[in-house]
Amino acid sequence: MKLNVKKTNTGRGVFAGEEIKKGSIVTTMTGKEYVWDKVEGLIKAGKVRLDDPFQIEEDDFLLLDPLPLLFNHSCEPNVGITKKRALVALRDILPGEEICYDYSATVCTHSSWVMRCKCGSVMCRKKIGNILTIPPSVRKTYKAKGLLSAFIRSELAQ
Ligand SMILES: [Zn+2]
Repeated sequence: MKLNVKKTNTGRGVFAGEEIKKGSIVTTMTGKEYVWDKVEGLIKAGKVRLDDPFQIEEDDFLLLDPLPLLFNHSCEPNVGITKKRALVALRDILPGEEICYDYSATVCTHSSWVMRCKCGSVMCRKKIGNILTIPPSVRKTYKAKGLLSAFIRSELAQ
């Protein structure tokens, strides 16, 4: 899969370097695994940005490898994350389009993380946060498509 890293109005982002068909795996969200206490320490020490840790379990996070770290958020994402942490195309993506996923889909219900969003979508939530900040109908779609990890699904079922 050909991917290009380019500047965006918020920093950098990952763009399709070729047409990506719906259902294709773009990449996998890889990184080093840490428990929250360790991640929190790194954030407080200024070594990790608050928006960057990628939650994979109730208390486990990935500090993502350089490429996966660069994917930006969109409230109307063109990729989602499968249970195997693969970034899968939710529709056909044209060359030159930025590839974005919904950050909130991986953030547990009791997280107080918030980020201002300027994704520009008509569906933009403006202020994004944990999984509960995703409208229920959208959450339902993600769940049906297998785009919510087990810990999120079990939290939502409670
Ligand atoms: Zn948005």
